[in-house]
Amino acid sequence: LVRVEGLHKSFGPQEVLKGVSMEVHSGEVVCILGPSGSGKSTLLRCINFIEEPTAGLIFVGDEIIGHRRTPDAAVLQQVRESEIARQRQDIGMVFQKFNLFPHMTVLENITHAPRLVKHIAAGPAKATAMDLLEKVGLANRAGAYPRQLSGGQQQRVAIARALAMEPKLVLFDEPTSALDPELVGDVLEVMKDLATGGLTMIVVTHEIGFAREVADRVIFVDDGVIVEQGTPAEVLDTPSHERTKAFLSRVL
Ligand code: ATP
Ligand code: MG
Repeated sequence: LVRVEGLHKSFGPQEVLKGVSMEVHSGEVVCILGPSGSGKSTLLRCINFIEEPTAGLIFVGDEIIGHRRTPDAAVLQQVRESEIARQRQDIGMVFQKFNLFPHMTVLENITHAPRLVKHIAAGPAKATAMDLLEKVGLANRAGAYPRQLSGGQQQRVAIARALAMEPKLVLFDEPTSALDPELVGDVLEVMKDLATGGLTMIVVTHEIGFAREVADRVIFVDDGVIVEQGTPAEVLDTPSHERTKAFLSRVL
């Protein structure tokens, strides 16, 4: 479903991603672990083209994000911003800091993009939003504003908002690391349900327990490269690289 080929990303002189290639299949849950500053967020941001790669290609389905094949199929052409917005509709993103619209109710947060971007009528958009709120355990808070909710509740609304666009893939960037410890469990529980339901997910997280239990595959990133990847047991219990061992000994 997702294929990243030879991805490089530099900010000025600093090369943050140094040739990352990875694949995520439909229905797979991939957890990305790695030290602070290793390029995890940049990788996710390149996958949905919030950041433009310096080099390399990102495929979602058989479409190349940010590029179009011209009639001469060998030549790739950069696509316009409006077309990137369309390509991005297949990719949901959940951020560390929730990023809900503060002046909109929970319901409005969830129906906003489907109505605006997909031109879904108010009735059906609301019905879908209520189903999603049910799923994340917040059906009774549809009329609340973000500031009236706990961090964990806000994050569950943010997840519902991402799902409302019916994405093929959802990217999670440390979705629980801004939460008080007692609120983490509810959010992980929702994510676990989504994984079980067959959603394709790429999750940057420091929650080793979640990775162990839910991930089909774990990728360890350090200093802009994939150091190793494999099943949770392979990477977490019997890592083969010193850098992975050192990282795990710090977080476990
Ligand atoms: P963390 O675990 O702390 O979230 P990370 O692995 O997500 O770290 P990134 O946020 O991808 O790391 O950042 C990798 C490097 O790229 C850092 O050195 C950061 O300062 C740099 N960087 C990220 N975004 C930008 C930007 N927009 N402009 C300049 N430098 C950036
Ligand atoms: Mg990050």
